This record gives sequence, C-alpha cells and structure tokens, in this order.
Amino acid sequence: MNYGEIITEVFNAVEVENCGGQVSSYIPELAGVNPKHFGVYLTTTDHFEFGIGSCYQKFSIQSVAKVLSLTLAFKMLGEKIWERLGVEPSGTPFNSLVQLETDGGIPRNPFINAGALVICDILVSQLKNPNLDFLQFIRETSDNPTLNYSETMAASEKSVGYRNIALCNFIKSFGNIKNHPGEVLDFYFRLCSIEMTCEELSKTFLYLANGGHRISDNRQVLNASQTKRVNAIMQTCGFYDESGEFTFKVGLPGKSGIGGGIIAIHPGKYSIAVWSPGLNKKGNSCKGIKFLELLTTKTKSSIF
Ligand code: GLN
Repeated sequence: MNYGEIITEVFNAVEVENCGGQVSSYIPELAGVNPKHFGVYLTTTDHFEFGIGSCYQKFSIQSVAKVLSLTLAFKMLGEKIWERLGVEPSGTPFNSLVQLETDGGIPRNPFINAGALVICDILVSQLKNPNLDFLQFIRETSDNPTLNYSETMAASEKSVGYRNIALCNFIKSFGNIKNHPGEVLDFYFRLCSIEMTCEELSKTFLYLANGGHRISDNRQVLNASQTKRVNAIMQTCGFYDESGEFTFKVGLPGKSGIGGGIIAIHPGKYSIAVWSPGLNKKGNSCKGIKFLELLTTKTKSSIF
C-alpha cells in the first residue's frame, strides 16, 4: 500500500474544498487560530510514517486528550471505573447536561464532557500530583518528554467555563464527583489544553493500533482487553452526536476535539492524525472527516 501517495492525493483534493466550517469561538484563545491550517500525519505499526501540510505545527488537542485520561484511569482502576460512568453513545452534544438528571449523575460515556469530568475526578483521587503525574504519563506513552499543557489555553477556557462548571457541580450533587469541583475542573481544563502536532498525536496514539503497546520499545500502556474496549468506545462515542455518521463514512475508531484535531486508529495497522480548525455544527473538523472518509475509501482500510 502506498500510503504516502494516496494521502498526498486526498490531501490535495480536500485542501481546496470549501467545507464551510467555523473555528470554535467559545474559548477566546481558540478563536484566533488560523482556519487555513490543514495537516495530516500517519504512523504505521510497521514503522512507516508520512506527514503533509501543517503537520509539524502545535495545536490544542482539546477533547482528543479524553482518550488519554480514560487510558490512565482504566490502567489504574480497571473495570471498576464503569461503576461511575457508562459506555453508551449519548446522541447529544459534547457539553450537554440533559441526560444527567434522569441518569442520576452517571454520564453515558467517558468522551462527553460529563464523563470526562468523572474520569478527571478519578484521576485527582488516584494521582499524588494530578497535573505533573498525568503529564509524566503522556510523555512516557508518547516517548516524548517535550509534551505539555498550555497554561494560557487552560486559563482562557476557565474564564468562560460556565457549562463545565455547571456540569461538574451537577454531578457532584449526585455524589459522583468525590473531590472539590474546583480542583477537578482545573485538572480538566489543563487536560484539554494539551498541545501536540499531528506527528506527535499520531505517534502518541499508536499504542491503540499496537495491541496496547508503545511502538518504540513494546512497553505496555494497556492490556489487550482494555485496548479493545478503548477502541470500541472511540468507535461508538468519539464524535458525540456524529459518532454514527463518522462510523458510517470513515469506519475507524476515532476521537475529535474542538481545536479541529482528529485521531483515528486502524487496529493492527496505523494511527492517523488530522488537523483542520474549521468545525461543523457538531463540533467536529469538517475537512478532517472529509479527508478520512476519502482516505479509508481509497486505501480500503475501514475496519468494516
Ligand atoms: N475543552 C472543551 C470543553 O470542555 C473540549 C470540548 C471538545 O473538544 N469537544 O468544552
């Protein structure tokens, strides 16, 4: 398979398309990002890599980071985490509050904000120094000691974080947040502020294509069963109320963020990161989805 040639062809076709997406404006610091950026990076489990466009430019990975927080909580506590949240697609926007009332404060899955906040609460309880220890974990997973939060982005989100503050307090009222909401939210805003390039994103997530093992030295991040489960939740819940459509069009487990990044995994084969800041109405990258749809079609590499 000549991935490089096909990626270049699809990239050039999608780059000139006008998807009509909008850069996320609700976090002030995100609003200033140049909408023209478009980058792609693919890393395969047999050590091929290929990047194009703005693939070496850092961006805010936002909700893509929720896969990493889930990974660490799952690694530390195992199946016990499912006592506090579900694995069902919510069919609602990422920041919705509506189901929590009837569901008694148990979020539907770890990728909507409600579920990610519960995972953050678990990590705040489990880690001695949540910010430092989590950073250490992602640096180890990616084999990249330079990865970091953006304090400016975290502060910018905190300044307008009304909905997440409401969500966290609401879940606390049901007893499903154990720590002080302020502490959980500070950790959540930092989590969302992590910056990576497409190259770094693709390499960091390769463990999900490699049976749970880092590619550099085969060190285990998750066991085989946990890896399968994280990929399954990405498949069913990774794009909020567009998860069905992403599965329909692209056919790979994936996760989006409102910074315009998407990671998609082909278990056993590759991890691919795409970044284009223009978002559709569901908060997912327009060009990112278009690119992945054409790529999995041309390479016949949907998992279905
Ligand atoms: N930090 C953002 C929020 O909580 C993340 C949302 C996203 O990327 N979908 O609103």
